[in-house]
Amino acid sequence: MNKPCIFCEIAAGRMDAEVIHQDEQVVAFRDIHPQAPTHVLVIPRRHIESMTEIEAADAELIGHMHLTAKRLANELGIAESGFRSIFNFGRDAGQTVWHIHLHLMGGRSMGWPPW
Ligand code: C5P
Repeated sequence: MNKPCIFCEIAAGRMDAEVIHQDEQVVAFRDIHPQAPTHVLVIPRRHIESMTEIEAADAELIGHMHLTAKRLANELGIAESGFRSIFNFGRDAGQTVWHIHLHLMGGRSMGWPPW
């Protein structure tokens, strides 16, 4: 039997997470291993494994994820100093959870490129 998806479990409220925003389409919660003073994940409620599964019909959802990140950046006080919003897709990018998630990170200065 397949293991349940961790992020589906969080979205359904069956697994603990520090949720800071939710609506019909997305849930946002604090990353369990923060890599910056502010590190939030924005996930769709619907299970989508990776970029390779995204279709034209998902354009509004993907846009809503970005707009949610922008709104949270303002609310969490990192918009002015700058922040990073990142999707990791696939093995080489370091994706470890196979349910798409937008990392919103800020509160410290960050280097580029991200090795
Ligand atoms: O992009 P990537 O797949 O590597 O990121 C997964 C992220 O999910 C990690 O930053 C990890 O700390 C986070 N995570 C979490 N809560 C869990 C499992 C993973 O915040 N229960």
